[in-house]
Amino acid sequence: MPALKPRTVALHASTRLESKSQPVVPAIHVSAVSFFDDADALDASLDGKDFVYTRIAGQNAALLEEAIAALEGAEACVAYGSGMAATRALLHGSKLVRGDAMVIAADGYGATRSLVKQFCAEREVALHPLALHAADAADRLRALKPKLVLAESMTNPLLSVLDPRGLARACRDVGAVLAVDATFVSPVLQRPLALGADLVLQSTTKWINGHSDATGGTVSGSREHIEPLRAARILHGDVLGPFEAWLTLRGLRTLPVRMAAHSANALAVARRLSQSKLLERVLYPGLESDPNHRVAREVLDGGFGGMVAFEIRGADRARCFRFLERVKLARPAPSLGDVMTLVMHAASASARRMTPEERAAAGIRENLIRVSVGLEDPDDIADDLLSAVGAAME
Ligand SMILES: *Cc1c(COP(=O)(O)O)cnc(C)c1O
Repeated sequence: MPALKPRTVALHASTRLESKSQPVVPAIHVSAVSFFDDADALDASLDGKDFVYTRIAGQNAALLEEAIAALEGAEACVAYGSGMAATRALLHGSKLVRGDAMVIAADGYGATRSLVKQFCAEREVALHPLALHAADAADRLRALKPKLVLAESMTNPLLSVLDPRGLARACRDVGAVLAVDATFVSPVLQRPLALGADLVLQSTTKWINGHSDATGGTVSGSREHIEPLRAARILHGDVLGPFEAWLTLRGLRTLPVRMAAHSANALAVARRLSQSKLLERVLYPGLESDPNHRVAREVLDGGFGGMVAFEIRGADRARCFRFLERVKLARPAPSLGDVMTLVMHAASASARRMTPEERAAAGIRENLIRVSVGLEDPDDIADDLLSAVGAAME
């Protein structure tokens, strides 16, 4: 071949690095497409035997999926661009048809509820929001005979702890698929599949990533459940990009040590808050006085998580907003699972898309604040929260 001209050289020079070394940290595979020296290998890659095109399978997403499957104790995992995309994929893959019934947690995540409501209306599926942590939940499931139950390990924002074991038995009896959104507890504190769930959802945006720098979501379960979702993702295209997958895997490396520290901090903060006369109720499943404590001891392992909620005595929405403006360390931000403490007014944020009647029925009051306890010193966090409550109520 004659000498190449500069325009060609600029494109083709230095596209490969020959090396036997293995990086300790995986590379970020930004290449949306790969080529093969061997045409048979290219051909096989199009049947899913190798990485060839990121929408079909991306290297970084695949590494994250493998790590999350391992933590969840699952055969397989599929990752999406957000927790909501994962939830939508799960609903879409559920094969619910007109006349079927579906059950969701009555006090679950607001956006999930809106999505499920829309989905059920479009498909003419009967939707039943139930208090799934209540003693009669399994009996009610047997009577309703749903095809799909979407529960939450710990509900948002009231932190009710679910016992998936009784629900799983009821679901098996009526042939329902039990999916558990375990975002609030992470795979470190609970592995819902081992407690009888068929599928487990994570918004990796929260504890798994842990640093608020990438959105993502996963669904994990048996190969039989997950492979159809993976096939659907190729067509729907809602993949997790390489940068987000890489950051999320980096966050996941420290998830177990972070969860232990978040749990210890949250318990210390909840104990301090419980002593304040300015607060009406402090909700934390790790407190012995909490109504969820007994169940939490049975279904959570290694801590009670980083989420605490409290009601400011006599506060309306304006006072709660003032509280959000008075905190100095905690960030008023509508998310959770960060290394920093985040606070949020439940009724106007996570439960924003619920009607006032739905909020009242779920027990979400106007004076409820949700805290995602960070890794600061717990005394500093408690001091910050209590002084902001004091300032808001002056
Ligand atoms: C945040 C959250 C979601 C949605 O996840 P995104 O990554 O924000 O799309 C779903 N379920 C729960 C319990 C959540 O907290």
